[in-house]
Amino acid sequence: SRSGFCRSNSTFYSKRNPLPLPANPSLDVTTFISSQPHRGTTAFIDATTGHRLTFSDLWIAVERVADCLHRDIGLRKGHVVLILSPNSIYFPVVSLAVMSLGAVVTTANTLNTAGEIARQTADSNPTLAFTTPDLAPKLAGLSIPVVLERVGSTRGVNVVGVVSEMMKKELSGQRVRDRVNQEDTAMLLYSSGTTGPSKGVITSHRNLTANVARFVSEKPIGEEIFICTVPMFHTYGLLCFNMMTVAFGSTVVILRRFDLHGMMEAVEKYRATTLALAPPVVVAMINEADAIRAKYDLSSLRRVRCGGAPLSKEATEGFREKYPTVHIFQAYALTESNGGGAFIDTVEDSRRFGTSGLLTCDVVARIVDPGTGRLMGVNQTGELWLKGPTIAKGYFKNQEATNETINSEGWLKTGDLCYIDEDGFVFVVDRLKELIKYKGYQVPPAELEALLITHPDILDAAVIPFPDKEAGQYPMAYVARKVESNLSEKQVIDFISKQVAPYKKIRKVAFINSIPKTASGKTLRKDLIKLATSKL
Ligand code: AMP
Repeated sequence: SRSGFCRSNSTFYSKRNPLPLPANPSLDVTTFISSQPHRGTTAFIDATTGHRLTFSDLWIAVERVADCLHRDIGLRKGHVVLILSPNSIYFPVVSLAVMSLGAVVTTANTLNTAGEIARQTADSNPTLAFTTPDLAPKLAGLSIPVVLERVGSTRGVNVVGVVSEMMKKELSGQRVRDRVNQEDTAMLLYSSGTTGPSKGVITSHRNLTANVARFVSEKPIGEEIFICTVPMFHTYGLLCFNMMTVAFGSTVVILRRFDLHGMMEAVEKYRATTLALAPPVVVAMINEADAIRAKYDLSSLRRVRCGGAPLSKEATEGFREKYPTVHIFQAYALTESNGGGAFIDTVEDSRRFGTSGLLTCDVVARIVDPGTGRLMGVNQTGELWLKGPTIAKGYFKNQEATNETINSEGWLKTGDLCYIDEDGFVFVVDRLKELIKYKGYQVPPAELEALLITHPDILDAAVIPFPDKEAGQYPMAYVARKVESNLSEKQVIDFISKQVAPYKKIRKVAFINSIPKTASGKTLRKDLIKLATSKL
């Protein structure tokens, strides 16, 4: 029922039904997912090869891979496994197998450079990596043993196993495993949070079982057919397509590489009902609507789930005009909240413009004035704070960042400026935190600033988001160069693009005498954003 929405002590409660959480203290998320009843038959289809995995194939594969990782490779509870892989049928098999052993899944963006991956693994310290033959060279020189998706030629890495082979191996018979508790760590996904470089977000099995419990309680047994194009290395793809759809019994058609027409072709071929997208793809669907509608039969398509970044009013309206029978369901969450946040799940609510939906049933919220710390009421804007069983435990090996982000009462400061209206709908107004999202990908300004100041001609620099219709926003740099320097915009752009993944590139540069700072030395980003956008 939705009548339960209430507000007391300026705390906002969800209008959704309360959540029954699994009580058994020793339970891993894989076992919890596999014990969900559903009527689904096909779990995954690889759109490129046509390879299908039924639910029974999937669980046999997970058991066999876990068995090989444990017996042949010695993977144990607490060990960290890096998954560096595009979306594939093997991705959920590996992630579910690793977590079933109590080992910890960490992921990296496949577009990242070898240097960026090395910096991340220096922090997470994986014992093992799962990757594809194509991506394996990015791990060369890291001395991490590698399990390959399938047989392929690689140089410079120590291959200790092949998943497609493990999936065919008979079980050893005995199942000797470490006991996994819900409070144990299940994942370490990297996010920059409200400030600074990327950090490992400590997610427990409890965080994930709570999120899976929410999925199954909020949605009746689904007969949805999804096309998955969002990356599984990001919280969005990982929670949706390695956990939610598996618990629902839905079918997921996997595209290895995103391509708009490939996606539309798959909708027609597999009679897909649902797309899970980030806003830039919604924009691309609008821009190419006429060609798409002329070419493909999209009559099966009912829903687009959209999250990861804000969806503009123009995009929502444009989409409705071009695809009148398809409803957009926005969702809002962050890596640190493991799916907790807000989402839309009814056609009626999808017609409300601009909202990310009602709070998920597993969180309570506060709206806090960022200047004074005062708790705000209905329709008042402030920083959104969230609390609940899906909120991550903190940042890996970084107590300072943990304390800054999650207070002693367990409130997660999201860094997003929001308000909640009288009906309980959450509206994301702006981002307070410094994070830039380029096509939904995280770009931490601190990383780019650290690189910029290594240039001999640069005295100081600040990186801010610059609005863009297609990408949402892109990184722009303000640069204070040495007096005698005649460093150009292009030289700055090239200097960075040689060192980072393409989505992190600086795409605009302005020179400034000095970077504006507060008395305590913090960059006044809002002033720079105002300056950069004043001419628009
Ligand atoms: P990530 O941890 O990469 O998922 O990034 C989370 C951040 O993306 C949030 O804190 C927001 O700033 C932004 N975000 C995600 N979903 C939405 C949404 N529906 N509307 C506005 N911003 C969003």
